[in-house]
Amino acid sequence: MEATDNPLPINGGYPVHTFADVKSVYLTYIGDEKGKAMVEKAYLYAKKKHDGQFRKSGEPYIQHPIEVAYILANLQVGPETLASGLLHDVVEDTGTPIDEIKDNFGEDVAKIVNALTKIQRLKLSHRKEVDFEAEDHRKIFLGMAQDVRVIIVKLADRLHNLRTLGALSPERQKAIAKETLDVFTPIAHRLGIYTMQSEMEDLSLKYLEPEKYQEILALLNKKMADRQKSLESLKKRIANILYEHGLPFRMESRVKSIYSIYRKMYLKGHTFDDIHDVLAVRVITKTELNCYEILGIIHATYKPIPGRFKDYIAMPKPNMYQSLHTCIVSGDGNVYEVQIRTEEMDRIAETGIAAHWRYKEGEHYNAKEEQRDIESKLHWFRDFVSVSHEGAKGDAKRFMDALSNDVFNANVYVFTPLGKVINLPTGATALDFAYKIHTKVGDQAVGAVVNGAMAPLNTVLKTGDICEIRTNAVSGGPKPSWLEIAKTSSAKAHIRRFLQRRRGSEVKEERIAKGKAALLESFKAAGYGEEEAIKLVDNEKVYSNFGLKDLDELYEACAVKNPAPSSVMAFLHVKRKPGSYKVLGHNPDKDDKNPVRVEGVTNVAVSLARCCTPVPGDHIVGYVSKGKGIIVHRANCPNVKDAGKRLVPVSWKEDLGISVYPVDITIYANDRPNLLGDIIGALSSKSISVNDISAHISESDRTDSISMTVYVASSKMLEDAFSMLLGLKGVYDCVRIIH
Ligand code: MN
Repeated sequence: MEATDNPLPINGGYPVHTFADVKSVYLTYIGDEKGKAMVEKAYLYAKKKHDGQFRKSGEPYIQHPIEVAYILANLQVGPETLASGLLHDVVEDTGTPIDEIKDNFGEDVAKIVNALTKIQRLKLSHRKEVDFEAEDHRKIFLGMAQDVRVIIVKLADRLHNLRTLGALSPERQKAIAKETLDVFTPIAHRLGIYTMQSEMEDLSLKYLEPEKYQEILALLNKKMADRQKSLESLKKRIANILYEHGLPFRMESRVKSIYSIYRKMYLKGHTFDDIHDVLAVRVITKTELNCYEILGIIHATYKPIPGRFKDYIAMPKPNMYQSLHTCIVSGDGNVYEVQIRTEEMDRIAETGIAAHWRYKEGEHYNAKEEQRDIESKLHWFRDFVSVSHEGAKGDAKRFMDALSNDVFNANVYVFTPLGKVINLPTGATALDFAYKIHTKVGDQAVGAVVNGAMAPLNTVLKTGDICEIRTNAVSGGPKPSWLEIAKTSSAKAHIRRFLQRRRGSEVKEERIAKGKAALLESFKAAGYGEEEAIKLVDNEKVYSNFGLKDLDELYEACAVKNPAPSSVMAFLHVKRKPGSYKVLGHNPDKDDKNPVRVEGVTNVAVSLARCCTPVPGDHIVGYVSKGKGIIVHRANCPNVKDAGKRLVPVSWKEDLGISVYPVDITIYANDRPNLLGDIIGALSSKSISVNDISAHISESDRTDSISMTVYVASSKMLEDAFSMLLGLKGVYDCVRIIH
């Protein structure tokens, strides 16, 4: 092959489009004559204005606005946005006054083009000043915050420039790639425009870290080649099963983007083989209910990996993303992620905000309404806009710091189970979240459930997490160690105040009694009686060793575990007496996790029956099984109706702490949209976790029966849950199941 004079491929090697191509896309969704005429006019106008201009890569300049418009048309934007895309460089590059745009295309288009021109002019700004970068970014944000359409056109413009970046010097390539990752991809991410975000990230990486990019690309290609057969057979099997169940679906495979793999490998320290969701199967179906049905079927067929199930349908991400995610082990032992969503969810997952505002025929577009709508849907956008307004006055550096601290980094948006957004600084924990909800919730917090899994209060929360706080009125309240866990100053202040109040109110005598009891308890566990124990600790050597004066001071100190009773015992070389272990293990109401007491019997294995799932508060009986100890059933469980002599009286213990017990229930309802979401939302609002949901819809009478396992602490809690569920529209019965 002979060498060519121009090594640069036309249009960066991407398919070259004509205006006719753009038109064939937008004609599928724009039908009104005025709109069509405006786009056509914008094209002819831009073509004339850019006539005689060429891009660095050699093609006529008009190719760039055409490609920008092609990207926009695929997002199904309206005629004004398409026209703005075609005209976006006219004012800047051809010296056309903005008023001419206004006269020809109206105020809306002129405003968008004007904002884009201002952003574009930053290129020409004086680049020696220290703050130039911050100043540029500030202006970009200010320009874009005015109108979401400006953002979308600017993103399309940047995407095409990245595709054709090969024509620029390596220095400019790196600068543009870096700016893209600093400014534009975070915005695309927040707006949920995934297709643009991931392509821009991959292209930027290609110029910033060419070696790593190629390395990952090679790993990815190899994995795809290795797994092709396995993936195809998994898809085929899932397709067969879904087909048998008569569920509507289509399937796709999705490959993780190079940039997300790069992040996992180089910013989070994973190895390529650690990343489980490199290849995913995506099942796209019709309704939300179908999604859960398909999930149930897949989990019944393949072993799911615990902790990897995420329900973004009930709890969407802040950028509106919805889908069910689960990880399964396929028949051949490979791990795959499976994503399940409806067509509409898929559209929003790919193009985010653009899907939401895609042009709808016959509806009058109202920019103000769109802006309002955007702000209520995306909380971060409101912050973005208000920071932008403030920033208009201050200096650029401070503005950028505020913006990146308050909007892009520092703000973590965490959801309550009901979907309310709680705004927290970066690094904030579940404990901060608890105090943000209410002081009382914070003071009584005993644990958290983050994204459906139990988590300690020191769990650091991320944007999109769904957090609920487990409380207990007799939890004992904040501990000094909480000051380390809390990150927000308001939570710390509450904790400090609580601790001060308690210190004041707890009189010395109480502390002495408490410490004495704790000390004696430890000795008792080791087989020492009270007198014997006191004789040992009432010892000058003990006091002086711990810097104390007398026995009372020792007790008082033990009350706050300084020293802990175990340290005192260790100092005295106290050894457990033979046989004392049993005493510790069978202090039945304290150390025994077993919630049920068997009358007159100790030291027996007790378990709760899976058939009737009893919970505290239920009338119960114990069934003496062969070899499995005593199995506790509900008194009315048919499985023990004829057991007669094998039944023994049992009762619930009084202080059961905060344990929850599984109960299998079925909810009957008339089918309606969002039913399942409302049910799960209602249960979450009562801090009731849910598992193993399966829903069946009767085609004949449009009724749903939804079975699930709920986790409750008592029969009272379950009754309350039932009356709440019965209050939901469409729900007509709730029953406990006996298998
Ligand atoms: Mn441009």
